[in-house]
Amino acid sequence: MRTALIVGAGVAGLTAATALARAGWRVEVAEVGASGATAGWGLCLTGPSLRALAELGLADACLAEGHGMSVITHVDVRGEHADQTELPRLIGARRPAMAGIARPVLHRILYTEAERCGVVVRHGLTVTSIDQETELVRARLSDGTGRQAALVVGADGVRSDVRGLLGLRASPDYHGQMVWRALVRRPSWGTGIHQFAGKDNTAGLVPISDSRAYVFLTENRAERNVLPDAELAPRLRRLLEPFPGRGAALAPLVSESESVVRRPVLTNFLQGDWNRGSGVVIGDAAHAPAPQMASGAALAIEDGLVLARELERHESVGAGLKAFVSRRAQRCRTLVETSVAIAGLEREQRHEEAYPLAGACHRLMAEPV
Ligand SMILES: Cc1cc2nc3c(=O)[nH]c(=O)nc-3n(C[C@H](O)[C@H](O)[C@H](O)COP(=O)(O)OP(=O)(O)OC[C@H]3O[C@@H](n4cnc5c(N)ncnc54)[C@H](O)[C@@H]3O)c2cc1C
Repeated sequence: MRTALIVGAGVAGLTAATALARAGWRVEVAEVGASGATAGWGLCLTGPSLRALAELGLADACLAEGHGMSVITHVDVRGEHADQTELPRLIGARRPAMAGIARPVLHRILYTEAERCGVVVRHGLTVTSIDQETELVRARLSDGTGRQAALVVGADGVRSDVRGLLGLRASPDYHGQMVWRALVRRPSWGTGIHQFAGKDNTAGLVPISDSRAYVFLTENRAERNVLPDAELAPRLRRLLEPFPGRGAALAPLVSESESVVRRPVLTNFLQGDWNRGSGVVIGDAAHAPAPQMASGAALAIEDGLVLARELERHESVGAGLKAFVSRRAQRCRTLVETSVAIAGLEREQRHEEAYPLAGACHRLMAEPV
């Protein structure tokens, strides 16, 4: 039985762990965070995410616990309906195109399945060194123990440490935008995604269950700093107030927010190889798009599936990783570059150019992986 050490129990790490375990690998995951510490805001699972989750047999669980929807409604700066994008239904005409879901719920679904498949997840643990030998990787962990594995997977997000330990160089770009998310009560009109163009910023609403939704806001020309928690909800309300119509109606919902987060828009695309010997990076560690396309999770889940498939198809781990990277690179690069272009158009208030670009990219993403 081949052994794999995965670093990071996010979307990429847990789906790769499940796919590898099902293919007969013995898998251990080292996660630096504490158990159950996933941040509380929501996520939109677009068609490619649902399709990849369906392959793992998990799409129905996500639809049952999340909120299925198929349409994105764009509202212009005057509060008028500007565009409506009907997204392709990739898991059958009777099922919705997308699902909004709370992150802890998605995480629980992925985690439960990984454990059911025999994956061992250890929390409060990271990797401190990686040494390559022929067909073997020796890793040292932060608790002082060591591991020998046929494969080490860095699924540790956009600021990946494994990337550096493998000698792969990348420096995530900041695009002058901070993104906000706030969990709120779902208003009765919030049955699909709504996106509002404001004079300075962009905002919107994504339902994640019958009763809950999350508000999002992209703050343009924003300083990349950390605000005290107590300032987050009042400041988000102030940023929402200038939006016309239903956009402004989002502001009072935030007063009920239990959880407001503000994060920099960071993107990353690893040029060239994503692996060194039998160590590889996947998910945001290799390619982090701007959140504007809501597709980073899709790429992360697809990575896990394709990685397991290519390793099964090839005799050696090295050959499997090479095939994995060559299958993934172009698709991931296109998504990252398009998301950066959309972020730029949003920053310049050129929303009418952003809508068709996003629509075309969603159609491209809908093509088989
Ligand atoms: C505000 C925001 C909104 C977004 N909205 C969407 C959306 O609606 N839809 C969508 O598809 N995508 C969205 N994305 C993108 C999506 O969240 C990411 O693409 C996706 O989570 C990537 O998964 P990952 O597993 O590669 O990384 P992560 O989800 O970042 O997981 C990395 C994991 O590794 C752990 N870790 C980090 N460092 C170490 C270490 N040194 N050792 C051990 N463990 C470590 C972390 O604790 C974490 O558990 C959004 C991103 C942001 C920032």
